[in-house]
Amino acid sequence: MSGSAITPWVVGNWKMNPMQAEAQALVSGFKKLLQKNEIKQEDCYLAVAPTLLALAEVQAQLADSVRAVYSVAQDVSAIAGTGAYTGEVSAELLVDHRIECVLIGHSERREIFAETPAMLNEKVKHALNAGLTVIYCVGESLAQRDNGQAEQVVLQQICDIAAVVTAQQWQKVVVAYEPIWAIGTGKTASPADAQAMHAKIRQGLTQITPFGPSMAILYGGSVKAENAVELAACPDINGALVGGASLTAESFYEIAQAFANTK
Ligand code: PEP
Repeated sequence: MSGSAITPWVVGNWKMNPMQAEAQALVSGFKKLLQKNEIKQEDCYLAVAPTLLALAEVQAQLADSVRAVYSVAQDVSAIAGTGAYTGEVSAELLVDHRIECVLIGHSERREIFAETPAMLNEKVKHALNAGLTVIYCVGESLAQRDNGQAEQVVLQQICDIAAVVTAQQWQKVVVAYEPIWAIGTGKTASPADAQAMHAKIRQGLTQITPFGPSMAILYGGSVKAENAVELAACPDINGALVGGASLTAESFYEIAQAFANTK
């Protein structure tokens, strides 16, 4: 126990996975592990981001869990409210369905779906105004890292949203640093490299908001049970955004335990 003052977050990003029966088994397996060996609420926030289709079912399945496990939307519309926007789901609709958090700025959304900083700012603004907690993802590509631009790219991504986040709303922002070259590749940033970037992010946040020192900064990129303890030991790594390893109840549980043990 290192006694970190920031409560860590461990968030599973299921992406476009899995099929319904596997999702049900995954949630029930995770609930059983929590029941057997509880991870205290105050030691770690837990959350899962299923597909939009599974979100309500997962939320219902988690309702009788021994502790809170938040259901997170993987995306939100850049348009607020309700209206004639086929295929879109607004922040207000998510809140109406008692969803509390949303991922915004994931590199897959930025790259594959060409989401620009302007679009992301609309999403962040509407999500925060509706009362959601925003897990805002940032991260550099391998080329940017090799060119020595990693820090500049990441800090710019943080600065981008400063235009739309109000002074009080920073309390509802969690940052996830996910170097793109480490996502789904099996390559993890070394704990030292990740800590160095997290410290820079914290410095940047602290220049923008007085909440900077107490904000959770999560690491993402091939986090698994095997590397979670080392990452969790870094002072500015306050949790993990977990892709592949969140699709197995045991590994997701072990990662959560590694971060909870830092409290
Ligand atoms: C992610 O996409 O958020 C992620 C971190 O994926 P993985 O853990 O599979 O690298």
